[in-house]
Amino acid sequence: MAITINGKEFADMEEFSRRGRGCATKIPTPVDMFRVDEELLSNRQRRVSFDTLHIEIRFIHLTYGSQGLISLEQRERQVELLNDAFSGSNLVFGYNEELTRSVDNHDWYRMGHGSFAEREAKSALSSDPTKYLNFYTAGLQNGLLGWATFPFDLAGDPVRDGVVVLDESLPGGNAAPFNLGMTAVHEVGHWLGLYHTFQDGCSGFGDHVEDTPAHSGPNYGKPADGQPHNACNAGEFAPIHNYMNYVDDEWMNELTDKQENRVKEQIMMYRTGLLNNDKSCHLEAL
Ligand SMILES: [Zn+2]
Repeated sequence: MAITINGKEFADMEEFSRRGRGCATKIPTPVDMFRVDEELLSNRQRRVSFDTLHIEIRFIHLTYGSQGLISLEQRERQVELLNDAFSGSNLVFGYNEELTRSVDNHDWYRMGHGSFAEREAKSALSSDPTKYLNFYTAGLQNGLLGWATFPFDLAGDPVRDGVVVLDESLPGGNAAPFNLGMTAVHEVGHWLGLYHTFQDGCSGFGDHVEDTPAHSGPNYGKPADGQPHNACNAGEFAPIHNYMNYVDDEWMNELTDKQENRVKEQIMMYRTGLLNNDKSCHLEAL
């Protein structure tokens, strides 16, 4: 039976999910990745970290008539999922319901990645990106689930900072098998500096995280446990439950220790405004 998700028709659910996770976050250039590694390394020598960091989300729901409306329950559940996913980095997400905005604008609702509409909407609606996580929902086209900006691009392009996710990907949406809220977790992972686990496939430095096994490309659906799948090295298993892979929402439930650590390092290097904005946050020497 044909289904329609945000105006785009798919033959059936299988076709929609076969198109993959549809994350449009840009692939960082080798020069960017080298620079980031160098900067993280030099910052590591300061040996400072934080105990707990509270991050305030600003929800901005782009709508078109009755399309794109997000309920209080959906926001609350989404925040819970973010807290579960990033607890290992000592992050606590929260938001102020009174500051949540729904904005009816057809062009903005249908924004494309890197489009004029995206820039126009964000210019009009974002809160200070050095202090808050700007979290946009919209009726993305062509099976796209979302995208994010990286921490190391904040200084150069603050207006675009934040995550954009398909409205129907929030918990309770209709974008099954991507409607349990893991798209936002994945995109916030990028916003905190994580690459896809399959970054660079079997060449180069992969995702620049030592304890995620390199694999040749994304995994889809619900791959069986206990098999190597497309792991690059003998004896290793592709990280089929990692939030930064492309598997179904139901299958996503882990970040590795070194991904969690990299998130903290990225914040210490590029998102220090979050630390300054959290009055309860204490820096500690390691
Ligand atoms: Zn992604």
